[in-house]
Amino acid sequence: MTSQPAPSGALRFDPVDLPDGHVELRAEVRAFIDAERARGTRLGGDWSARYDTEFSGRLGRAGFIGMTWAKEYGGHERSALERYIVTEELLSAGAPVGAHWVADRQSSQLLLRFGTEEQRKALLPGIARGENFFCIGMSEPDSGSDLASIRTTAKKTDGGWLINGTKLWTSAAHICHYMIALVRTAPASDDRHAGMSQMIIDLKAPGVIIRPIRNLAGDAHFNEEVFTDYFVPDDRVVGEIGDGWNQVVSELGYERSGPERFLSTFSVFVELVRAVGPDPSLRTVEAFGRLAAHVMTLRSMSLSVAGMLQQGLLPNVEAAVVKDLGTNFAKALPEVARTIIQAEPDVDIGPAFEEAWIEGLLYAPAFTIQGGTREILRGVIARGLGLR
Ligand SMILES: Cc1cc2nc3c(=O)[nH]c(=O)nc-3n(C[C@H](O)[C@H](O)[C@H](O)COP(=O)(O)OP(=O)(O)OC[C@H]3O[C@@H](n4cnc5c(N)ncnc54)[C@H](O)[C@@H]3O)c2cc1C
Repeated sequence: MTSQPAPSGALRFDPVDLPDGHVELRAEVRAFIDAERARGTRLGGDWSARYDTEFSGRLGRAGFIGMTWAKEYGGHERSALERYIVTEELLSAGAPVGAHWVADRQSSQLLLRFGTEEQRKALLPGIARGENFFCIGMSEPDSGSDLASIRTTAKKTDGGWLINGTKLWTSAAHICHYMIALVRTAPASDDRHAGMSQMIIDLKAPGVIIRPIRNLAGDAHFNEEVFTDYFVPDDRVVGEIGDGWNQVVSELGYERSGPERFLSTFSVFVELVRAVGPDPSLRTVEAFGRLAAHVMTLRSMSLSVAGMLQQGLLPNVEAAVVKDLGTNFAKALPEVARTIIQAEPDVDIGPAFEEAWIEGLLYAPAFTIQGGTREILRGVIARGLGLR
């Protein structure tokens, strides 16, 4: 691998070699998942739909959270590619990773990059143990794609900041201990990206009301949080006051490129192959081949971004490509499965397929919205290619 970022106007997806010991590591994760299955953990769903805080604790104790951080912060000093192997195994088994996911993938990286030593020491070991859960407080009513238009304010007061405003669509806020919120610390100006800052919010402290929002599936995984004179001490500001926009942008590579962007409905594929059995029609074989080719290509692209992140690069354009292609694939999979099942009338689909399929159908509309909509990603890609 070379270490230069992609030049403007070019996309870069260098192939990466998996690290030594990857076969053994994969076997270790599979053994962990088998043990979870044996103890009755519910497997087979979408990462964003399934939370199991006790599962997160067991995963943390097994050394599979905080894998890439320094040991002094509770991490395990392994590579980003080793972490990739662990996450793809967990996701393809449909493990209930939703509770610790954001903390492990994103908030920790932000704290390692911009946080103070005190913040890292106080918060990272709990994340690695699968006990500290974080959520992302970016979106607001009327501010989603146009994140620079946020209106939640933080005003300086003695020893800290007073927050007023509303955050919206916050995944898992109801089970999280902390939110990293993007807030306005200076009034909006001609420089739309100036005057924003990031703060660590203790969601159990007074001054915040968390209300669940029910989704299409009837579940309440995301929330609205209303802040009224909520006090954040100075030592809970992340990075520099006013630098929030740059910091948020640096999270996007982590948020958009991982295997969760194309493996959300992978369980549907696995259960479909099981349901169809060893003697599918030629047409179904062709459809399976097409799906498998898509997954393998997306995986290579996503792995390539993981390789660049490991080198300290910020491959935000490539991450946007992975998210756009990956979420379109994951969204289409349950519909493709429906067509295949209709073409195989003798197949007994069984409860495992049915559960994965229904969950896939009901959650799929969100895939191309959460983490940046399709149109916004294509704008990012066009800009990266020098087309706008
Ligand atoms: C399941 C789920 C979980 C989420 N979790 C979180 C979370 O944990 N934390 C968080 O902060 N947010 C979260 N979100 C919010 C998500 O980031 C926003 O919904 C998303 O950014 C879109 O913003 P919006 O809903 O305000 O829609 P809008 O920005 O109003 O967009 C509406 C439509 O207009 C299109 N559009 C908007 N601007 C443009 C443009 N410039 N050019 C072309 N088309 C445009 C969009 O693509 C979209 O189709 C979540 C959303 C979902 C669905």
